[in-house]
Amino acid sequence: MTANSPIEIGGTTVKPGARVNVDLPVADLYTATSLHMPVQVICGRKAGPVLFVSAAIHGDELNGVEIIRRLLNRKVLRSIRGTLLAVPIVNVHGFLNQSRYLPDRRDLNRSFPGSQKGSIAARLANLFIKQVVSKANYGIDLHTGAINRSNLPQIRANLDDPETLEIAQAFGVPVIINSDIRDGSLRACAYDRGMPVLIYEAGEALRFDEISIRAGMRGILNVMRQIGMLPKLKNPRQVMPVIARSTSWVRAPSSGIVTARIRLGNSVQKDQSLASISTPLGDEEDHVIAPFDGIVIGQSKLPLAHEGDALFHLGAFKSIPRVENLVENFAAEHEDDATPT
Ligand SMILES: [Zn+2]
Repeated sequence: MTANSPIEIGGTTVKPGARVNVDLPVADLYTATSLHMPVQVICGRKAGPVLFVSAAIHGDELNGVEIIRRLLNRKVLRSIRGTLLAVPIVNVHGFLNQSRYLPDRRDLNRSFPGSQKGSIAARLANLFIKQVVSKANYGIDLHTGAINRSNLPQIRANLDDPETLEIAQAFGVPVIINSDIRDGSLRACAYDRGMPVLIYEAGEALRFDEISIRAGMRGILNVMRQIGMLPKLKNPRQVMPVIARSTSWVRAPSSGIVTARIRLGNSVQKDQSLASISTPLGDEEDHVIAPFDGIVIGQSKLPLAHEGDALFHLGAFKSIPRVENLVENFAAEHEDDATPT
Protein backbone atom coordinates (compact mmCIF):
# COMPACT_ATOMS: atom_id res chain seq x y z
CA MET A 1 0.00 0.00 0.00
CA THR A 2 1.36 3.36 -1.01
CA ALA A 3 0.52 6.07 1.50
CA ASN A 4 -1.39 9.13 0.30
CA SER A 5 0.33 12.52 0.22
CA PRO A 6 -0.82 15.46 2.33
CA ILE A 7 -2.71 18.16 0.42
CA GLU A 8 -2.61 21.91 0.97
CA ILE A 9 -5.81 23.93 0.43
CA GLY A 10 -6.11 27.61 1.32
CA GLY A 11 -3.02 27.48 3.54
CA THR A 12 -4.25 24.44 5.50
CA THR A 13 -2.33 21.18 5.14
CA VAL A 14 -4.50 18.09 5.39
CA LYS A 15 -2.68 14.89 6.25
CA PRO A 16 -3.56 11.35 5.11
CA GLY A 17 -6.41 9.96 7.21
CA ALA A 18 -7.75 13.42 8.08
CA ARG A 19 -11.05 15.06 7.20
CA VAL A 20 -10.94 18.83 7.49
CA ASN A 21 -13.23 21.73 6.62
CA VAL A 22 -11.40 24.63 5.01
CA ASP A 23 -13.07 28.04 4.60
CA LEU A 24 -11.74 29.91 1.56
CA PRO A 25 -12.33 33.66 2.02
CA VAL A 26 -14.32 35.38 -0.77
CA ALA A 27 -15.34 39.05 -1.19
CA ASP A 28 -16.99 40.47 1.97
CA LEU A 29 -20.57 41.69 1.82
CA TYR A 30 -20.84 45.50 1.85
CA THR A 31 -22.20 45.23 5.38
CA ALA A 32 -18.60 44.25 6.30
CA THR A 33 -19.82 40.70 6.91
CA SER A 34 -17.15 38.24 5.83
CA LEU A 35 -18.01 35.32 3.57
CA HIS A 36 -16.24 32.12 2.68
CA MET A 37 -16.49 29.19 0.30
CA PRO A 38 -16.69 26.01 2.40
CA VAL A 39 -14.55 23.07 1.25
CA GLN A 40 -14.43 19.65 2.86
CA VAL A 41 -11.15 17.85 2.27
CA ILE A 42 -11.14 14.09 2.82
CA CYS A 43 -7.56 12.88 2.53
CA GLY A 44 -7.55 9.06 2.36
CA ARG A 45 -4.78 7.04 3.97
CA LYS A 46 -3.93 5.26 0.73
CA ALA A 47 -2.67 6.94 -2.42
CA GLY A 48 -5.10 7.55 -5.28
CA PRO A 49 -6.51 10.31 -7.48
CA VAL A 50 -7.71 13.70 -6.29
CA LEU A 51 -11.34 14.35 -7.26
CA PHE A 52 -13.20 17.63 -6.84
CA VAL A 53 -16.99 17.71 -6.70
CA SER A 54 -18.57 21.16 -6.93
CA ALA A 55 -22.08 22.64 -6.95
CA ALA A 56 -23.85 26.00 -7.13
CA ILE A 57 -21.42 27.62 -9.57
CA HIS A 58 -24.81 28.99 -10.57
CA GLY A 59 -26.05 30.12 -7.16
CA ASP A 60 -29.70 29.08 -7.65
CA GLU A 61 -28.94 25.48 -8.73
CA LEU A 62 -29.60 23.56 -5.54
CA ASN A 63 -29.79 19.85 -6.37
CA GLY A 64 -25.98 19.61 -6.36
CA VAL A 65 -25.75 21.21 -2.91
CA GLU A 66 -28.00 18.46 -1.55
CA ILE A 67 -26.14 15.78 -3.53
CA ILE A 68 -22.86 16.80 -1.87
CA ARG A 69 -24.48 17.06 1.59
CA ARG A 70 -25.77 13.49 1.29
CA LEU A 71 -22.53 12.24 -0.27
CA LEU A 72 -20.52 13.52 2.70
CA ASN A 73 -22.74 11.47 5.04
CA ARG A 74 -21.78 8.21 3.35
CA LYS A 75 -19.71 5.93 5.59
CA VAL A 76 -17.84 4.57 2.57
CA LEU A 77 -15.92 7.87 2.33
CA ARG A 78 -13.97 6.88 5.47
CA SER A 79 -11.93 4.40 3.46
CA ILE A 80 -11.26 6.17 0.16
CA ARG A 81 -8.01 6.00 -1.75
CA GLY A 82 -6.77 9.41 -2.79
CA THR A 83 -8.44 12.67 -1.87
CA LEU A 84 -11.94 14.13 -2.25
CA LEU A 85 -12.45 17.89 -2.38
CA ALA A 86 -16.15 18.66 -1.85
CA VAL A 87 -17.32 22.21 -2.59
CA PRO A 88 -21.11 22.42 -2.17
CA ILE A 89 -21.43 26.18 -2.77
CA VAL A 90 -18.93 27.77 -5.17
CA ASN A 91 -20.92 30.93 -5.95
CA VAL A 92 -21.61 31.92 -2.34
CA HIS A 93 -22.97 35.38 -3.26
CA GLY A 94 -25.40 33.98 -5.83
CA PHE A 95 -26.51 31.28 -3.37
CA LEU A 96 -27.34 33.94 -0.75
CA ASN A 97 -29.32 35.94 -3.33
CA GLN A 98 -30.94 32.77 -4.76
CA SER A 99 -29.51 33.96 -8.06
CA ARG A 100 -27.62 32.29 -10.88
CA TYR A 101 -25.22 35.23 -11.07
CA LEU A 102 -22.74 37.17 -9.01
CA PRO A 103 -23.93 40.52 -7.56
CA ASP A 104 -22.43 42.29 -10.62
CA ARG A 105 -24.69 40.09 -12.83
CA ARG A 106 -21.78 38.17 -14.26
CA ASP A 107 -22.07 34.44 -14.86
CA LEU A 108 -19.31 32.65 -12.94
CA ASN A 109 -19.35 29.87 -15.52
CA ARG A 110 -18.28 32.36 -18.21
CA SER A 111 -15.52 33.84 -16.03
CA PHE A 112 -12.97 30.99 -15.84
CA PRO A 113 -10.01 30.88 -15.37
CA GLY A 114 -10.48 34.36 -13.89
CA SER A 115 -7.83 36.59 -12.35
CA GLN A 116 -6.81 37.97 -9.00
CA LYS A 117 -7.49 41.58 -9.98
CA GLY A 118 -10.56 41.17 -12.19
CA SER A 119 -14.31 41.42 -11.46
CA ILE A 120 -15.84 39.72 -8.43
CA ALA A 121 -16.69 36.77 -10.72
CA ALA A 122 -13.12 36.63 -12.10
CA ARG A 123 -11.68 36.67 -8.57
CA LEU A 124 -14.00 33.90 -7.42
CA ALA A 125 -13.17 31.83 -10.52
CA ASN A 126 -9.46 32.36 -9.90
CA LEU A 127 -9.77 31.30 -6.23
CA PHE A 128 -11.67 28.14 -7.17
CA ILE A 129 -9.16 27.20 -9.89
CA LYS A 130 -6.09 27.87 -7.74
CA GLN A 131 -7.30 26.30 -4.50
CA VAL A 132 -9.41 23.42 -5.79
CA VAL A 133 -9.28 22.59 -9.51
CA SER A 134 -5.51 22.84 -9.86
CA LYS A 135 -5.08 20.35 -6.98
CA ALA A 136 -7.28 17.71 -8.62
CA ASN A 137 -6.94 15.05 -11.35
CA TYR A 138 -10.68 14.72 -12.02
CA GLY A 139 -13.76 16.88 -11.49
CA ILE A 140 -17.54 16.57 -11.35
CA ASP A 141 -19.50 19.82 -11.49
CA LEU A 142 -23.20 19.69 -10.58
CA HIS A 143 -25.84 21.85 -12.31
CA THR A 144 -29.59 22.06 -12.90
CA GLY A 145 -31.76 23.67 -15.54
CA ALA A 146 -32.64 27.37 -15.19
CA ILE A 147 -35.63 28.73 -13.27
CA ASN A 148 -38.81 27.02 -14.57
CA ARG A 149 -36.77 24.70 -16.78
CA SER A 150 -36.11 21.12 -15.78
CA ASN A 151 -33.45 18.80 -17.17
CA LEU A 152 -33.58 15.03 -17.47
CA PRO A 153 -30.59 13.72 -15.46
CA GLN A 154 -27.74 13.82 -17.98
CA ILE A 155 -23.96 14.06 -18.25
CA ARG A 156 -22.32 16.63 -20.50
CA ALA A 157 -18.68 16.12 -21.30
CA ASN A 158 -15.98 16.13 -23.91
CA LEU A 159 -16.36 12.57 -25.16
CA ASP A 160 -13.52 12.83 -27.68
CA ASP A 161 -11.23 12.15 -24.72
CA PRO A 162 -11.35 8.37 -24.02
CA GLU A 163 -10.88 8.69 -20.26
CA THR A 164 -13.64 11.30 -19.99
CA LEU A 165 -15.92 9.00 -22.00
CA GLU A 166 -15.15 6.13 -19.58
CA ILE A 167 -16.06 8.06 -16.45
CA ALA A 168 -19.10 9.61 -18.19
CA GLN A 169 -20.39 6.09 -18.89
CA ALA A 170 -19.51 4.94 -15.37
CA PHE A 171 -21.62 7.75 -13.84
CA GLY A 172 -24.66 5.71 -14.84
CA VAL A 173 -27.36 8.07 -16.14
CA PRO A 174 -29.14 7.07 -19.37
CA VAL A 175 -28.18 10.06 -21.47
CA ILE A 176 -24.77 11.58 -22.23
CA ILE A 177 -24.31 14.66 -24.36
CA ASN A 178 -21.10 15.38 -26.20
CA SER A 179 -21.62 19.10 -25.83
CA ASP A 180 -19.63 21.99 -27.20
CA ILE A 181 -17.32 23.76 -24.82
CA ARG A 182 -18.29 27.34 -23.96
CA ASP A 183 -15.57 29.94 -23.55
CA GLY A 184 -14.99 30.89 -19.94
CA SER A 185 -16.70 27.79 -18.54
CA LEU A 186 -15.11 25.64 -15.87
CA ARG A 187 -15.18 22.77 -18.36
CA ALA A 188 -13.24 24.79 -20.96
CA CYS A 189 -10.66 25.65 -18.32
CA ALA A 190 -10.33 22.00 -17.24
CA TYR A 191 -10.12 20.94 -20.89
CA ASP A 192 -7.16 23.31 -21.42
CA ARG A 193 -5.45 21.56 -18.51
CA GLY A 194 -6.15 18.13 -20.00
CA MET A 195 -8.30 17.24 -17.01
CA PRO A 196 -11.38 14.99 -17.33
CA VAL A 197 -14.43 16.86 -15.99
CA LEU A 198 -18.07 15.79 -16.05
CA ILE A 199 -21.00 18.16 -15.87
CA TYR A 200 -24.08 16.59 -14.28
CA GLU A 201 -27.30 18.41 -15.21
CA ALA A 202 -30.55 17.39 -13.51
CA GLY A 203 -33.76 19.03 -12.35
CA GLU A 204 -34.49 22.76 -12.19
CA ALA A 205 -33.20 25.80 -10.30
CA LEU A 206 -34.43 26.60 -6.75
CA ARG A 207 -35.98 23.14 -6.30
CA PHE A 208 -34.91 19.75 -5.00
CA ASP A 209 -35.72 16.83 -7.29
CA GLU A 210 -35.42 13.54 -5.43
CA ILE A 211 -34.57 11.31 -8.41
CA SER A 212 -31.99 13.80 -9.68
CA ILE A 213 -30.40 13.97 -6.24
CA ARG A 214 -30.25 10.19 -5.74
CA ALA A 215 -28.96 9.58 -9.26
CA GLY A 216 -26.33 12.29 -8.82
CA MET A 217 -25.02 10.94 -5.54
CA ARG A 218 -24.91 7.41 -6.89
CA GLY A 219 -23.18 8.68 -10.04
CA ILE A 220 -20.38 10.32 -8.06
CA LEU A 221 -19.79 7.07 -6.11
CA ASN A 222 -19.79 5.17 -9.44
CA VAL A 223 -17.10 7.50 -10.82
CA MET A 224 -15.07 7.09 -7.61
CA ARG A 225 -15.21 3.31 -8.15
CA GLN A 226 -14.19 3.72 -11.79
CA ILE A 227 -11.11 5.82 -10.99
CA GLY A 228 -9.99 3.58 -8.10
CA MET A 229 -10.96 5.74 -5.10
CA LEU A 230 -13.47 3.10 -3.94
CA PRO A 231 -13.50 -0.69 -4.48
CA LYS A 232 -15.53 -1.86 -7.48
CA LEU A 233 -18.96 -3.40 -6.77
CA LYS A 234 -19.27 -7.16 -7.31
CA ASN A 235 -22.62 -6.81 -9.07
CA PRO A 236 -22.80 -3.29 -10.43
CA ARG A 237 -26.04 -1.99 -11.93
CA GLN A 238 -25.38 -1.93 -15.63
CA VAL A 239 -26.62 1.20 -17.33
CA MET A 240 -25.06 1.57 -20.75
CA PRO A 241 -25.96 5.14 -21.55
CA VAL A 242 -26.61 6.45 -25.02
CA ILE A 243 -24.84 9.45 -26.47
CA ALA A 244 -26.77 12.30 -28.09
CA ARG A 245 -25.56 13.18 -31.57
CA SER A 246 -26.96 16.69 -31.26
CA THR A 247 -29.51 18.64 -29.23
CA SER A 248 -31.83 21.47 -30.08
CA TRP A 249 -34.46 23.65 -28.33
CA VAL A 250 -37.93 23.72 -29.85
CA ARG A 251 -39.45 27.19 -29.56
CA ALA A 252 -43.03 28.45 -29.25
CA PRO A 253 -44.44 29.31 -32.71
CA SER A 254 -46.85 31.82 -31.10
CA SER A 255 -47.66 33.35 -27.71
CA GLY A 256 -50.23 31.85 -25.35
CA ILE A 257 -51.11 29.25 -22.75
CA VAL A 258 -49.05 26.06 -23.14
CA THR A 259 -50.55 22.61 -22.63
CA ALA A 260 -47.71 20.08 -22.81
CA ARG A 261 -48.53 16.67 -24.26
CA ILE A 262 -45.23 15.04 -23.31
CA ARG A 263 -42.83 15.04 -20.37
CA LEU A 264 -39.11 14.69 -19.64
CA GLY A 265 -37.64 11.43 -20.89
CA ASN A 266 -40.40 10.79 -23.46
CA SER A 267 -39.41 9.84 -26.97
CA VAL A 268 -41.03 11.88 -29.71
CA GLN A 269 -41.29 11.53 -33.46
CA LYS A 270 -40.73 14.08 -36.17
CA ASP A 271 -43.88 16.19 -36.78
CA GLN A 272 -45.47 15.05 -33.50
CA SER A 273 -47.31 17.76 -31.50
CA LEU A 274 -45.36 18.35 -28.28
CA ALA A 275 -47.78 20.93 -26.87
CA SER A 276 -50.69 23.09 -27.86
CA ILE A 277 -50.57 26.84 -27.42
CA SER A 278 -53.90 28.60 -27.16
CA THR A 279 -55.25 32.06 -26.47
CA PRO A 280 -56.80 32.57 -23.02
CA LEU A 281 -60.34 32.30 -24.46
CA GLY A 282 -59.37 29.14 -26.31
CA ASP A 283 -60.55 30.37 -29.70
CA GLU A 284 -57.20 29.86 -31.40
CA GLU A 285 -54.85 26.94 -31.04
CA ASP A 286 -51.38 26.39 -32.38
CA HIS A 287 -49.08 23.37 -32.05
CA VAL A 288 -45.43 22.98 -31.07
CA ILE A 289 -44.08 20.45 -33.57
CA ALA A 290 -41.08 18.13 -33.08
CA PRO A 291 -38.53 18.92 -35.83
CA PHE A 292 -36.87 15.46 -35.60
CA ASP A 293 -37.10 12.11 -33.78
CA GLY A 294 -35.68 12.56 -30.29
CA ILE A 295 -35.90 12.36 -26.52
CA VAL A 296 -37.05 15.22 -24.31
CA ILE A 297 -33.96 16.08 -22.24
CA GLY A 298 -35.14 19.50 -21.02
CA GLN A 299 -38.51 21.16 -20.64
CA SER A 300 -40.01 24.51 -19.65
CA LYS A 301 -42.26 24.03 -16.61
CA LEU A 302 -44.03 27.35 -17.10
CA PRO A 303 -47.34 26.91 -18.94
CA LEU A 304 -47.06 30.37 -20.50
CA ALA A 305 -45.01 31.34 -23.55
CA HIS A 306 -44.19 34.23 -25.78
CA GLU A 307 -43.51 33.50 -29.41
CA GLY A 308 -39.89 32.34 -29.60
CA ASP A 309 -39.64 31.04 -26.02
CA ALA A 310 -37.68 27.78 -25.70
CA LEU A 311 -40.11 25.06 -24.60
CA PHE A 312 -38.57 21.63 -25.16
CA HIS A 313 -34.93 20.56 -25.41
CA LEU A 314 -34.66 17.52 -27.67
CA GLY A 315 -31.70 15.18 -28.00
CA ALA A 316 -31.17 13.23 -31.21
CA PHE A 317 -30.02 9.62 -30.76
CA LYS A 318 -29.27 6.73 -33.05
CA SER A 319 -31.73 4.41 -31.34
CA ILE A 320 -34.75 6.05 -29.69
CA PRO A 321 -36.79 3.11 -28.29
CA ARG A 322 -33.82 1.83 -26.32
CA VAL A 323 -33.33 5.23 -24.73
CA GLU A 324 -36.92 5.39 -23.57
CA ASN A 325 -36.58 2.02 -21.83
CA LEU A 326 -33.39 3.21 -20.19
CA VAL A 327 -35.08 6.36 -18.93
CA GLU A 328 -38.08 4.47 -17.53
CA ASN A 329 -35.98 1.82 -15.81
CA PHE A 330 -33.70 4.47 -14.42
CA ALA A 331 -36.55 6.47 -12.83
CA ALA A 332 -38.10 3.30 -11.36
CA GLU A 333 -34.75 2.19 -9.90
CA HIS A 334 -34.10 5.48 -8.19
CA GLU A 335 -37.63 5.71 -6.81
CA ASP A 336 -36.94 2.45 -4.98
CA ASP A 337 -33.62 3.64 -3.56
CA ALA A 338 -33.61 3.87 0.19
CA THR A 339 -32.90 7.42 1.27
CA PRO A 340 -29.21 7.31 2.08
CA THR A 341 -28.11 8.03 5.60
ZN1 LIG B 1 -25.70 25.74 -14.11
